[in-house]
Amino acid sequence: MYLTRLIYFSERNPSVDCDIQQILESARRRNAANSITGALWFNGSLFLQVLEGGRHNVSETYHMIARDHRHQNIELVECKAISERAFPKWSMGYHGDTKLNRERLLRFSGHDQLAPQEMSPESMLGLLMSLDLSDQAV
Ligand code: FAD
Repeated sequence: MYLTRLIYFSERNPSVDCDIQQILESARRRNAANSITGALWFNGSLFLQVLEGGRHNVSETYHMIARDHRHQNIELVECKAISERAFPKWSMGYHGDTKLNRERLLRFSGHDQLAPQEMSPESMLGLLMSLDLSDQAV
C-alpha cells in the first residue's frame, strides 16, 4: 500500500455535542489498529488534521471522518503519496487552543488565529509538525 498523506480542515458543528477527548480516544484507538499516524489541531471552532498511512486505510478513515456529524464544511486540502511519515510516533497528536499554539501559528500564518483558507498545505503541515510531547495531554 502506497504511503499517503491527507490534510483537511473543517468547522465544528454547533448543533452537535463535541467532546474532543472522546474524538481523540476513538481516533487513537482506531488509528493504532490501522497503522495511521497524524495530528489534529482544534481551537474550539475549527479542526485541522493530517492523516498518514497506507492509501487504502487513509482513504477509508477520511471517508468515515467526513461522515461524522460533529463537524461540517470539510475541505480537502491535499492528498498525496509520500516517501516517509512526518508523525511516525503519533497515533493522533493534538494541538489545543493554548498561548504556545497561538505563537506557533504566527510562525506559519499571517495571524495568531487559525485561518486555514489562507494557509498553504506546506504551512499547515509545518504547523502540525511543530507538535511536541507536552501537547499529548488534552
Ligand atoms: P466510538 O469510538 O465507539 O464512539 C465513541 C462515541 O463517540 C460514541 O458513543 C458517540 O458518542 C461518539 N460518536 C462516534 N461517532 C460519532 C458520529 N459520527 N457522530 C457523533 N458522535 C459520534 N476516527 C479515526 O478513526 N481516526 C481519526 O483520526 C479520527 N479523527 C477525527 C477527527 C474529527 C475532527 C472528528 C470529528 C472525528 C474523528 N474520528 C476519527 C472519529 C470518526 O469520525 C468516527 O466517529 C470514529 O472513528 C467512530 O469510531 P467508533 O465506531 O469506534 O465509535
